[in-house]
Amino acid sequence: MQTHLVMLVKDAAVFRSESTTMLRERLIEALGVEAVKTAPEDLAVYAFDAYTDGAPPSAVVLPASTRDVSAVVKIAREFGEPIVARGAGTGLCGGAVATAGGIVLSFARMNRILELDERNRRARVQPGVINLDLSRHVAASGLFYAPDPSSQKISTIGGNIATNAGGPHCLSYGTTVNHVLALEVVDHRGEVFTTSIDDAGYDLTAALVGSEGTLGVVTSAWLRLLAFPEAVRVWVAAFGDIDSASEAVSAIIGAGIVPTALEMMDSVITRAVEAAFAAGYPTDAGAVLLVEHAGVEEDVAAAETSIHAIVSQHGARSWRSARTAAERAALWAGRKGAAGATGRIAPNYYTQDVCVPRSRLPQALRAVESAAAENAVTVGNVFHAGDGNLHPLLMYDKRERKQVAAVVETGNAILQCAIDLGGTISGEHGIGWEKRDAMTRIYSTADLATMGRVRDVFDPARALNPEKIFPNGSRCPEVAPP
Ligand SMILES: Cc1cc2nc3c(=O)[nH]c(=O)nc-3n(C[C@H](O)[C@H](O)[C@H](O)COP(=O)(O)OP(=O)(O)OC[C@H]3O[C@@H](n4cnc5c(N)ncnc54)[C@H](O)[C@@H]3O)c2cc1C
Repeated sequence: MQTHLVMLVKDAAVFRSESTTMLRERLIEALGVEAVKTAPEDLAVYAFDAYTDGAPPSAVVLPASTRDVSAVVKIAREFGEPIVARGAGTGLCGGAVATAGGIVLSFARMNRILELDERNRRARVQPGVINLDLSRHVAASGLFYAPDPSSQKISTIGGNIATNAGGPHCLSYGTTVNHVLALEVVDHRGEVFTTSIDDAGYDLTAALVGSEGTLGVVTSAWLRLLAFPEAVRVWVAAFGDIDSASEAVSAIIGAGIVPTALEMMDSVITRAVEAAFAAGYPTDAGAVLLVEHAGVEEDVAAAETSIHAIVSQHGARSWRSARTAAERAALWAGRKGAAGATGRIAPNYYTQDVCVPRSRLPQALRAVESAAAENAVTVGNVFHAGDGNLHPLLMYDKRERKQVAAVVETGNAILQCAIDLGGTISGEHGIGWEKRDAMTRIYSTADLATMGRVRDVFDPARALNPEKIFPNGSRCPEVAPP
């Protein structure tokens, strides 16, 4: 009996490797050898994102056109192989990583800005366009693309759309979903369909944004562009502690002022940022707020007066206004480079991403601190305070198992605390692989079943990024956390 079983397993392995060889041949035949990566060292490069290591896929394909994407999806369907779309791999929840075989569709070659419609302030782009490249490209026309994740120097529009990426300026401009006007998508059969927010009927554009590659593969998008504001001002307010800084955040929003951006960094982060970038933050403060307001000159001046008064009432020790564009840029470069700067503190960091109601920020930050202290983990806080979107960076050395376990424990405690405070399990990074089991903590069985039915309409065979978003502990391969 046992011998029989061993033979069966061997047969399955031979069949699998023969089938993988045939799959690769078909892909090469369809797209050419340059577009298909199969060498183990190439596949290994695509087996991770900024959160985790997954499994090497059966093949990595770099399409050059929508027609290529369509052909690849059709071939994948023939071979029963899943498709995992991939932008820059900066995702923080294991979304762009294959878990068992499959074809990774990398959009590195579909990175062109196809049309700029200045009159209507919109652009059509391929999914592999890097976020910041779009803003740079349209700057000469006095326009910019508002969603600005801190990863914007490298993350792609396709990845941003699939995760509904946010960023510091999304407090007033809205997240990616508010800036996508129309999509071209390849469905699970390899057929192309389009959506537009101008269409009557269901808003399929909104359904696709944030769907993490599980409903379709985005092959191009019309994006909304905004005109440069007349005036922009950036201020730094320094506080003795995190508590008073977070009280000030609640008070600013409570007063009906919505700055363009309202970010907070604690002392662990400002020191790391200053050591790395000398960006202009005070290193002796318990917490700093980075505040930006943009608009017509009178509004910006009025906002300055009001915000300055509120932070002073909440104990700000200092208030500085960036005097030049270069000073503003340096402050933002420091903020956006904060995660990288923690390399000075520990070789690895894990970013938790949770949201709490703004009024609960002080409690949430206290809970972060006590969870980290209980597990002896160094934590640095740098986050979109105006949105109540926390990003505690938990620092560790991944070679030390005990430290990894302590970080997992701390991350879970923070997640639970956000839920207990009436918040949610992800502010902007998505669910992906990492948080799929946590979905049951915020959604009922009926909620999840409804989402599952939506997924089944778009992708009944669950061929597009399977194993993501939905809880399924029973098929949980070992993925090194975090
Ligand atoms: C230092 C750092 C800072 C960050 N800051 C922010 C931040 O401020 N705000 C924020 O929201 N995120 C942030 N992130 C997370 C990450 O950058 C975003 O989630 C980003 O949108 C991912 O883009 P990407 O191109 O790297 O996508 P990937 O990581 O490659 O993929 C992300 C998801 O998108 C899917 N996908 C990719 N392309 C397509 C496509 N064409 N069609 C369908 N699905 C697709 C993938 O399958 C996957 O599920 C940060 C990450 C890092 C490392």
